[in-house]
Amino acid sequence: MSSTVISNIATLVTNDPSLRDDSPLGLVRDAAVVIEGDRVVWTGESRKAPATDNRVDAGGRAVLPGFVDSHSHLVFAGDRTEEFNARMSGRAYGAGGIRTTVAATRAAADAELEANLVRLLDEALRQGTTTFETKSGYGLTVEDEARALRLAARHTDEVTYLGAHVVAPEYAEDPAGYVALVTGEMLDACAPHARWIDVFCEEGAFDGDQARAILTAGKARGLHPRVHANQLSYGPGVRLAVELDAASADHCTHLTDADVDALAGGNTVATLLPGAEFSTRAEWPDARRLLDAGVTVALSTDCNPGSSFTSSVPFCVALAVRDMGMTPDEAVRAATAGGAAALRRDDIGRLAPGAYADLTLLDAPSHVHLAYRPGVPLVAGVWRRGVRRV
Ligand SMILES: [Zn+2]
Repeated sequence: MSSTVISNIATLVTNDPSLRDDSPLGLVRDAAVVIEGDRVVWTGESRKAPATDNRVDAGGRAVLPGFVDSHSHLVFAGDRTEEFNARMSGRAYGAGGIRTTVAATRAAADAELEANLVRLLDEALRQGTTTFETKSGYGLTVEDEARALRLAARHTDEVTYLGAHVVAPEYAEDPAGYVALVTGEMLDACAPHARWIDVFCEEGAFDGDQARAILTAGKARGLHPRVHANQLSYGPGVRLAVELDAASADHCTHLTDADVDALAGGNTVATLLPGAEFSTRAEWPDARRLLDAGVTVALSTDCNPGSSFTSSVPFCVALAVRDMGMTPDEAVRAATAGGAAALRRDDIGRLAPGAYADLTLLDAPSHVHLAYRPGVPLVAGVWRRGVRRV
């Protein structure tokens, strides 16, 4: 197995707490990383690096773990430019939001859906994302939900069954019937292709009792829960997520003190998705409040064609620092180790011996530039599983 050292790294983000470096990031200056096969085998000061077969000169720039985007919706067809344009222009827009995407997705051929997925994954990789989670939720029939998960599973291990995105249009008058489908025949068809089950717990989507029934049915089939919770209004989603030991409660924009206490006392990560607030001109989630309470926070894109059509984790880092009270260190940690925690993974999101060699080289001397230079394409190199991809 050949080995490679990446040396002359001005700032290395390891997320390795054993370094005790006064930051949440386990920073090493004048650093090197050694990769063997698909794994990291050594990190430390450049001058102490062991001999290797190959050498890459980082040129005095920064290296960090590849971003872990733990929340996206990438299996879809169609376009919602007009809806965004109308919203940002203060005009009413009549067409049906998510139902527009459902209709286009159902009508699309497998090859079209997969080509769109691959295009978005390449776009994310070029911006430093090396792991992503993605969901169904634009099919809302047994066949279309299972198809979305089959296509997603060709490209990631982190696949989420979201039949409970909204009630399918065919069941508009019979939401209980749709919940029975989601927890019955649809679950049977989807469970073999997914690791996770998710539900949009919100007024107009699924209430607390429905969400509990859906997540409990998924758990009984071996799927682990995660929840779209407290995005548009206060509600039971976050506390339900903690109670059911969900890996993550996602959005967390409208939280009571009891919600924050529940997150602080449980094992559920709060995943913040500022692209959604940006793209809908909504109130920002308060990351500072969560961090000060001791909650583990992740930052992800929520990439989807309606409410957050960005695949850029660096963009989300910049928003989190500017508008959500996070320090640059906290935001970078949330986008790497935080995302890994939201997927209950310890083999990604950090650069330490044994972890996957998923890393991003920035055209900047420090990770702080991700927020300091917003909108600038700083990613100069990406390794995934030890192979240079960018
Ligand atoms: Zn989402």
